Amino acid sequence: MPTSTARVPKRGKRELEKYRRLLEQKKSELSDELAKARDAEEETTEESTQDIADKAVSSYTREFLYSLTDGERTVLLRIDEALNRIDDGTYGYCLNCNVQMSDKRLAAVPWTPHCVDCQELAEKGLLEG
Ligand SMILES: [Zn+2]
Repeated sequence: MPTSTARVPKRGKRELEKYRRLLEQKKSELSDELAKARDAEEETTEESTQDIADKAVSSYTREFLYSLTDGERTVLLRIDEALNRIDDGTYGYCLNCNVQMSDKRLAAVPWTPHCVDCQELAEKGLLEG
């Protein structure tokens, strides 16, 4: 076992398990959607060997699918990170400022690594790392 830090998480084990279930549920939903999107991508790739009009449509569809799956891949990654943080006892704390995030925020976006303030900075590209 790795040596743990002195900080004791304020959230109880039962509460953390609740978030773990939320995260795992979302993870399996997203995995299903990604698998479906991959199938659709393959279909549009085959269609793109047809005439020019069809090609334009399917390249649009492909772009849409790529942007969709990029977002979902990011969420999947964050879910895995959040699950790791549940294991090491740091879940629920903002990665940037270390503040304990509210239940409301975690219930809405259980995989979020940042509190509302830091999220805003991150979206503006003002967050380091
Ligand atoms: Zn923060």
